[in-house]
Amino acid sequence: MAEKKTVLVVEDEEDILALLHFNLVKAGYRVECASCGEEGLRKLKEQLPDLMLLDLMLPGIGGLDICRKLRAEERTAKLPIIMLTARGEEADVVQGLELGADDYLTKPFSIKVLLARMQTILRRASEGEGLDPEEEIVCGDLQIHPGRNLVKVAGDLVDLTYTEFRVLLALASRPGWVFTRYQIVNSVRGEDYAVTDRAVDVQIAGLRKKLGVCGPYIETVRGVGYRFREFA
Ligand code: CA
Repeated sequence: MAEKKTVLVVEDEEDILALLHFNLVKAGYRVECASCGEEGLRKLKEQLPDLMLLDLMLPGIGGLDICRKLRAEERTAKLPIIMLTARGEEADVVQGLELGADDYLTKPFSIKVLLARMQTILRRASEGEGLDPEEEIVCGDLQIHPGRNLVKVAGDLVDLTYTEFRVLLALASRPGWVFTRYQIVNSVRGEDYAVTDRAVDVQIAGLRKKLGVCGPYIETVRGVGYRFREFA
């Protein structure tokens, strides 16, 4: 049997911490708990977990500051982080994703969804980020050929602009992952390309229209950005 993965949970609400601990142990993880940011950072120093669940609103050092700190240090730069947020913290979610958090869940969340997200992230972390340009991405009725800039919907070629293609590729290469508008722009043009949120929305609207029956695969995440639907 594979070695157990370790999850560090940083959460100041005792009930949630206990619930997470119980369910994660049940799901086969080794679980470390911390009820404030300082304790979380201390535990990280002792042992690097495979994944971190990080509440954003913490007494003392907050989740966003922890995120920033971890990404700045080589040892923790690639540690997968799922943020746990309360409703109404969309602005913090956007900031957290841009600081490098991998994903987020809004409380109250289902344990089933959390476990699925964790698996996706852990799998990705072990496979690495590389996208093979010769490997076709197939999701439902949609086929994307990264190396040849080809997109087919239900077998028919779809004519996309270069930008639309890059946006689609960025989203579809990480199904289920939320991208902020800023991250979408970066994936298309590289850093420093000034474009408005509205321009990203226009690209997405055009893309959805051209994708027809596959248009709904691109989902809006209210107040945060967009994500490509995850296919089981
Ligand atoms: Ca909290």
